[in-house]
Amino acid sequence: MTKIILPSASGTTIGIIGGGQLGRMMALSARQMGYKVAVLEPGIDSPTAQIADIEINAAYDDKVALEELLTVSDVVTYEFENIPYAAIKEVVEADFGYLPQGHRPLEITQNRLREKTSAVQCGFGTAPFADVSDEAKLRAALVDIAYPSILKTVSGGYDGKGQWRLKSEADLPEALEVIQNAKCILEGFVPFDKEISVIAVRSTKGEVKTFPVFENDHANGILHLTSIPADISDELDAKAHELARDFIEQLDLVGTLAIEMFVVGDELLINEMAPRPHNSGHLTIDACNVSQFEQHVRAICGLPLIEPEIVRPAVMVNLLGQHVDYTLEQWQRPEFANGNLHLYGKDKNVRDRKVGHITFCAEGCPGDTAELQRTVNFFLADFPE
Ligand code: AMP
Repeated sequence: MTKIILPSASGTTIGIIGGGQLGRMMALSARQMGYKVAVLEPGIDSPTAQIADIEINAAYDDKVALEELLTVSDVVTYEFENIPYAAIKEVVEADFGYLPQGHRPLEITQNRLREKTSAVQCGFGTAPFADVSDEAKLRAALVDIAYPSILKTVSGGYDGKGQWRLKSEADLPEALEVIQNAKCILEGFVPFDKEISVIAVRSTKGEVKTFPVFENDHANGILHLTSIPADISDELDAKAHELARDFIEQLDLVGTLAIEMFVVGDELLINEMAPRPHNSGHLTIDACNVSQFEQHVRAICGLPLIEPEIVRPAVMVNLLGQHVDYTLEQWQRPEFANGNLHLYGKDKNVRDRKVGHITFCAEGCPGDTAELQRTVNFFLADFPE
């Protein structure tokens, strides 16, 4: 039987594994709805812990801490995918509490080979890829896939880390060195027209909703801008929604599945997935009738999902450590006062680490998107590298 987890005066608690910004924004939504929040995170006073009622400081796979989190929570979820899935499997099987997403979303998405293989098995396109766990396999893959290609660590990579572009034979020695130290996948380089993402959310009752398609721009492998509505044809838009719905249903997952895709002509190729709210979905807070965080909470609590709609066209600018001073200076100017600023409460503004975002919205829908673009261009005019 599907559980329905409602907020209560006695304190219904949502437990979150991971204390980063995604947990923080999830916790803010949960609190607004009247839930209490518990968090498991090794470091003290994390972005999520600042919002939580209960803070447990331990490694994500510390069994005693996981049991404690499950015991104090009415429902538990996770906010990032690099949690050892075997530990989650064990505590779920031991019935210490309620974690409706289970370990499978982690198992699939924390390994690029499993992730891409599952996309192909479900009938979707990806860049050509190959397991290159030894020299013979790498050399064979470089014949099949050829240059240019991208070597990526199978696990643990994020924001462009753990990736090497292979342009020609000259890059082979470095590639051979990399595969000696880490398990890798080789991917063909996709000359994409655009990058988009779609977030699908599936509740414990099996209801599925997909968010409007986001259009993404990366800089140095890190998400820089996300815009809605995406500038793509109606046919591609429908295809992207259908793909996301079909994928989450075929995988039989509960919770959020964010799918990053390359647009190549009228084709969509899946690049990456995440079993959690996603950086490209942050603008849903200010631009949609429901945020990805509220929808996620609804999904794990067995509540009805909301049909997501764009209320205002928007552009989100990601803020890395080096962007904070500039942004705070600009934000004091009347022209940018309507930028919705979100800072994550990180203890340091570290270069190239995500510490916040700012979302600019047009007034109403369809809104004046040319004016919105002018504001964003103006804001970005002297944006630090
Ligand atoms: P990832 O960590 O796989 O999301 O990669 C980060 C960024 O690198 C992507 O958003 C793309 O801009 C670029 N990228 C990754 N894989 C490929 C590929 N196979 N072909 C072209 N660009 C890629």
